[in-house]
Amino acid sequence: MNLKTFIRDIPDFPSKGVVFRDITPLLKDPKAIRYTQEALLDLVGGLKVDKVVGMESRGFFFAPMLAARLEAGFVPVRKPGKLPYNTIQQSYNLEYGSDVLEMHSDAIQKGDRVLVHDDVLATGGTAKATCELIEKMGGEIVQCNFLLELDFLNGKDKLLKFEVNSLLHY
Ligand code: IMP
Repeated sequence: MNLKTFIRDIPDFPSKGVVFRDITPLLKDPKAIRYTQEALLDLVGGLKVDKVVGMESRGFFFAPMLAARLEAGFVPVRKPGKLPYNTIQQSYNLEYGSDVLEMHSDAIQKGDRVLVHDDVLATGGTAKATCELIEKMGGEIVQCNFLLELDFLNGKDKLLKFEVNSLLHY
C-alpha cells in the first residue's frame, strides 16, 4: 500500500510558508490504519520494549496500539499543566521562543527499555526533549520511531545517540 496517498499537504499551516503533512485521511481509512500498525511494528523488529512513550497529541494515535502489541506500557508526554500527578519537565527550543514537555514522575522505571513514537519528526526538538525526560528517569531508549520524517529539517541530527526509524520520508 502506498501510504503517501493518504497524507494530505496543507500549505501555509499553521503559519505561512509551512507545508503541514496531515495524516487524518490515513486515520479515516481502516485498511490504511491496519497497514500503518503492521508497518510500524515491523520498524521495531524484534526489540524488547517495556514502555512506549508517545507525544501529545498526534503521537497518541499509534503509540498505545504499539504498546499493546509489544506487551509494553504506554506513557504520555504532554504540554504543561495537562498531567494530573507529579511531573518532571524538560524545556526545548522552538523557532521563536521555547516550550516545555512533561511526564509523570513515576512513568519510567530505572532500566526500562523505551520506544519513543510520534507521528512526525520535523526539527527534532520534541523528540529530543522527550528522550531527555526518559533518560532523566533512568530509561534506556531502544528506538525513536515515526510515521513520517521531514528529512530536509535534519531532525535526526538531534537524535544521533539513538536508532531512528521512520516509515515515510519527505
Ligand atoms: P519537531 O519538534 O520540530 O520535530 O516537531 C515535531 C512535532 O510537531 C510532532 O509532535 C508533530 O506532531 C508536529 N508536527 C510538525 N510538523 C508536522 C506536520 O507537518 N504534520 C503533523 N505534525 C507535525
